[in-house]
Amino acid sequence: MSFDEMDVDTIWMDGEFVDWDDAQVHVLTHGLHYGTGIFEGARCYDTEEGPALFRWDEHLERFYHSAKPYEMDIGHDAEELTEATIELIQRQDLTSCYIRPVAFYGYNSLGVSPKDCPTRTAIAVWPWGAYLGEEALENGIDVMISSWRKHSSSQIPTNAKTTGLYVNSMLAGEEARRNGYAEAIVLNKEGHVAEGPGENVFLVRDGEIYTPALSESILDGITRDTVIELARDLGYTVHDNVSISRGELNTADELFFTGSAAEVTPIRKVDNVVVGDGSRGPITEEIQSRFFEIVERRTDEYDEWFTYV
Ligand code: PMP
Repeated sequence: MSFDEMDVDTIWMDGEFVDWDDAQVHVLTHGLHYGTGIFEGARCYDTEEGPALFRWDEHLERFYHSAKPYEMDIGHDAEELTEATIELIQRQDLTSCYIRPVAFYGYNSLGVSPKDCPTRTAIAVWPWGAYLGEEALENGIDVMISSWRKHSSSQIPTNAKTTGLYVNSMLAGEEARRNGYAEAIVLNKEGHVAEGPGENVFLVRDGEIYTPALSESILDGITRDTVIELARDLGYTVHDNVSISRGELNTADELFFTGSAAEVTPIRKVDNVVVGDGSRGPITEEIQSRFFEIVERRTDEYDEWFTYV
């Protein structure tokens, strides 16, 4: 769905609420030319206790951390960004939405050095349903191992959510879709499983759960962290400090993606090789239903993960 079809009218930009159509930048913005921006993607869920931001503090913490390697000074503190986000949701009468904070080097000069370019900061919110489709949550998706490798964390900080990094995600995702798959899995420079273009990946084998280590050039996903904690609390053994080889994807009992947008999405085929019995596996289903039970606040556990609007 395009923004023009959505009932949203306000964006927060550099400390002010502005009309949606007025949230503009100059075409010679540094971040547009060199990908020198950082961003977040979070969700507000329509819970039994009203709209609530899920793990907002962790998203904000990652936002400030992402800015660090680029020496970008976000001149707005966490309290201001939180108030702005809550007000955006209230003003637009949203009960659930996706939240996109972004900060980037702005307009001043176009040397590669961003020196003297101002840091611009904005937050937008909009309604966004299941990222890979409702059907995907139930039946799973087919994925392709991308021919593109993920950049190594020795080349670019992969734990910073940097706008420029997403050209790799775009290439991988579009290659997969051109070939009839819903999404890609990207291997890292060493050839180990890294992640999806916008998701972390989990594998189930013999009743235990595996996900690539943070040292595998992945983003430190907040949903990844959530699922690790939920799974452990459900009594599962979770190995989160391992390398996973490409071949292990083919012999896994279950595979699934996690992400703020993708939530918990089962994977039913990798390069046409059927995973398990080709449907959402039982452990994936248990974790997925636990995830939705929590984010929709149908239980009062994990209340510390919520910021109420
Ligand atoms: N990896 C990449 C490359 C991503 O873009 C995302 C989405 N932010 C994730 C993993 C999942 O992270 P999170 O659960 O924090 O959304």
